[in-house]
Amino acid sequence: MSTAGQVIRCRAAVAWESGKPLSIEEVEVAPPQKDEVRIKILFTSLCHTDVYFWDAKGQNPLFPRILGHEAGGIVESVGEGVTDLKPGDHVLPIFTGECKECPHCLSEESNMCDLLRINTDRVGMINDGKSRFSINGKPIYHFLGTSTFSEYTVVHVGQVAKINPHAPLDKVCVLSCGMSTGFGATVNVAKPKKGQSVAIFGLGAVGLAAAEGARVSGASRIIGVDLNPSRFEQAKKFGVTEFVNPKDYNKPVQEVIVEMTGGGVDRSVECTGSIQAMISAFECVHDGWGVAVLVGVPNKDDEFKTHPVNLLNEKTLKGTFFGNYKPRSDIPAVVEKYMNKELELDKFITHTVPFSEINKAFELMLAGEGLRCVIRMDA
Ligand code: NAD
Ligand code: ZN
Repeated sequence: MSTAGQVIRCRAAVAWESGKPLSIEEVEVAPPQKDEVRIKILFTSLCHTDVYFWDAKGQNPLFPRILGHEAGGIVESVGEGVTDLKPGDHVLPIFTGECKECPHCLSEESNMCDLLRINTDRVGMINDGKSRFSINGKPIYHFLGTSTFSEYTVVHVGQVAKINPHAPLDKVCVLSCGMSTGFGATVNVAKPKKGQSVAIFGLGAVGLAAAEGARVSGASRIIGVDLNPSRFEQAKKFGVTEFVNPKDYNKPVQEVIVEMTGGGVDRSVECTGSIQAMISAFECVHDGWGVAVLVGVPNKDDEFKTHPVNLLNEKTLKGTFFGNYKPRSDIPAVVEKYMNKELELDKFITHTVPFSEINKAFELMLAGEGLRCVIRMDA
């Protein structure tokens, strides 16, 4: 029996207030409206951004809310005007969008869509500002336009990547955010040439995805930099060949790396969010050709300070958002890279929990254990 056009009642994990365990509730999910798609979520994974907004320290506390933005699912029904998706399509919802019409979407160089760029304060749909989720008629807020901690969710069509139906959704779901961000930062922005050296600052999930990008690019040396030595063992599996802990030296880590490499690394990718690491990542690249790419999200008041001579000496500083990928145009091809075994994802998935135990995924992340915990919605 088709559920199209009807309200669906299903389970969702609702965050009622900051820092309190999510509670599994029965919610009503309204049908998709113009330019919207209703998706049955099969797998979702937990990313730091979910935890930041659940914790809501330094963020606008917006509750009750359904969090979640890394996921894979199947289109259940589509709203008016949706022509490029149909029920049964396999999709990844993405926290940022691609309207295909604005100056950014029309530019080959940008993925920062004017209409659907990430907006962490938006709690309803773009169409009418309203939520499609409710409990006994009381609205529950959306998160990043995705809200994947629900068996069904409604997403703007511009935030949905249609992927190969043979791709295992329990693996490729991690391409919705973190893995694509790190991987794209290296392959799309730092663009190391075969045989070059790459330094990765921060060996969390995003940094290890950046290291995977360096491995795939044929980097000769992948130097991992982290303050936490427990990150090093795991990073070996990701092709990181050398490790530097800034705490082990009494001089700036950029000087250590310049010495190790006889003048600096060819490329560096910063995935920490620490302003100090951002500056080091820039200053440790080779003059004449080195490129540094910033990925980490800094603190509100941070300022980047370096001597302009570093730039005159032809070191390049760049930053990237979502690995420069356009969600609808580019992500399907990243899924194909996984299918062709060019890109490895399984090693990022260190834990799996049933939806009923979603709070365990939060506990693991808060304890700094593992990289990605995949949540199975059918259990
Ligand atoms: P994580 O916390 O798992 O990993 C960060 C690592 O950096 C940790 O191992 C930590 O020990 C290390 N670190 C911290 N300060 C350091 C320093 N000064 N020098 C060396 N290492 C240091 O985080 P993650 O989930 O991998 O995310 C990394 C960053 O990427 C975060 O800032 C996150 O907000 C950001 N991010 C950016 C985008 C984007 O589009 N630009 C998207 C997703 C995530
Ligand atoms: Zn756009």
